[in-house]
Amino acid sequence: MRNLVAAGSFYPRDKEELILTLKELGLTRRIGKSRAILVPHAGITYSGRTAAKAYNQIRRAKKIVIVGTNHSGTGKVSASQQDWITPLGKAKTWKTTAFPVDETVHAHEHSIEIQLPFLQYKLKNFRFLPLSVSHLSLRECERTAQKIVKLKPCLVIASGDLSHCGPGFGDTKNYDPRTLELIKSGNPKDFYDYTKHSTVCGHTPITILLYYAQKLGLKPGLEHYSTSKDVTGDSTDWVGYTSFTFK
Ligand SMILES: [Zn+2]
Repeated sequence: MRNLVAAGSFYPRDKEELILTLKELGLTRRIGKSRAILVPHAGITYSGRTAAKAYNQIRRAKKIVIVGTNHSGTGKVSASQQDWITPLGKAKTWKTTAFPVDETVHAHEHSIEIQLPFLQYKLKNFRFLPLSVSHLSLRECERTAQKIVKLKPCLVIASGDLSHCGPGFGDTKNYDPRTLELIKSGNPKDFYDYTKHSTVCGHTPITILLYYAQKLGLKPGLEHYSTSKDVTGDSTDWVGYTSFTFK
């Protein structure tokens, strides 16, 4: 069993408090039609409201792929096969041989774990395939998307944050307006080329998601955009968050 690493910092460790927080963020048990979503991966007090908008649109799903940013940058595409635990209980993994398994990559990474409480609140008896991805070439992104298509998941989730903007991040450019346009246009190559040298922290997962959506003919729809400024009031150093559904 994988130990949780993000509880208590990225989301509440106490079960009742976590459920209350998810409800306050606007998460409902309503089931929608979205076959893929893009959501942020910051602490839920920062980006949870934006995430909830997309989670409220997901379809009922038994087999789910979650593609998350690998912040340590080790390996390429790393799966996990042990079950994961959160304050809402055990989340079972979907065991396939399609991707190499590396549990060490997942041990300290929060970007996938932070998605589980949203899923556990909404869905019963799902299995998920955690894929932690570091930098990949455009070709590797497409190949990864093709492998995911072959697995025939009910739902694909990609997690990524947008600009990390301000002197504290060493880059004062706001990449968000153009990045949002490129996700809306659904062209993986254009998105990849623009965000490659940016502070967007979902460059690879989002490129994979756009290829996946393109191969299935799913259309991206913007659900929400926010920034950490809305929560912290700090407009010097801030992070952008967005959520999209793909139907
Ligand atoms: Zn990140």
